[in-house]
Amino acid sequence: MLLDGRKTADTLNEALKVKVEQLTKKPKLEIILIGNDEASKSYVKGKLNTASNLGMEVHINYLDEAIDQVSVEALIQKLNTDKDVHGILLQLPIPKHLDSDHLISLIDYKKDVDGFHTMNQGLLFQKKDGIRPATPLGIMMLLDFYNIPIEGKHVVIIGRSQIVGAPLSKMFLDRNATVTITHSKTKNLPSITKQADILVAAIGKPKFVTKDMVKVGAVVIDVGINRVDKKLVGDVDFEHVEPIASYITPVPKGVGPMTICALAHNLYALYLKQEKE
Ligand code: NAD
Repeated sequence: MLLDGRKTADTLNEALKVKVEQLTKKPKLEIILIGNDEASKSYVKGKLNTASNLGMEVHINYLDEAIDQVSVEALIQKLNTDKDVHGILLQLPIPKHLDSDHLISLIDYKKDVDGFHTMNQGLLFQKKDGIRPATPLGIMMLLDFYNIPIEGKHVVIIGRSQIVGAPLSKMFLDRNATVTITHSKTKNLPSITKQADILVAAIGKPKFVTKDMVKVGAVVIDVGINRVDKKLVGDVDFEHVEPIASYITPVPKGVGPMTICALAHNLYALYLKQEKE
């Protein structure tokens, strides 16, 4: 069965829209977009459209590819102190001459809508209230929407990035799953992925997960977004895996819309904390 991220996000966003309508002010998101990366531009457009439809305010700071570190730092400091701004998002990747880790560390963690700040990652790893990274949060929201049990399940995650694999593993652990994280140095990967009740692919390699790597009846979550011949392709060989999976996310319209949905929920949560309504 298809885990329809588009429909799920639409349903959850509709409920969020009602809550946003009741606020005295509009939650405001500031996005910093540096350079001309086409994929980044399209992700930012998606975030802008969704948040605007929900009655939130979004302002995009378009910065030149050649901008220097100090100027971006100054912009972040300015947004940190602006009381009308509830969330700040630095769209990644950024040009190589800039220090993304340092820039993220400068964002006030109380406005860190992406949940990438060390403080929010620390709160996650201590199981405390904080902003969770949008893609892992969106995946949990999708599984919950379909009432897919997590407790006691063996979850295998391929990929250990700070934005997907690593935080997601902790979120599954906190839901009492047994979690295995695999990565580029893992030996005998198929023997491990075959054990998964829930298999998450976050690698960035088109159709990497083939049918022989998946247990019959597994839930398969495909995070990958790869552009092949101008088409979007996931990390899972959907055509051959779909018949044996109990549930599977498509690409596009799977994890992508859920990431944006989670981001909007994060902005709403940040607004409530800052405005104390
Ligand atoms: P990343 O490059 O930071 O990490 C990739 C991970 O894959 C690494 O941990 C690496 O060890 C692992 N890996 C690479 N080759 C491997 C191999 N042969 N065997 C096992 N593991 C291997 O990537 P990321 O930022 O985590 O993103 C992963 C994918 O998810 C990309 O396609 C990205 O575009 C996509 N993505 C999608 C969303 C969304 O909203 N749908 C959000 C974030 C990322």
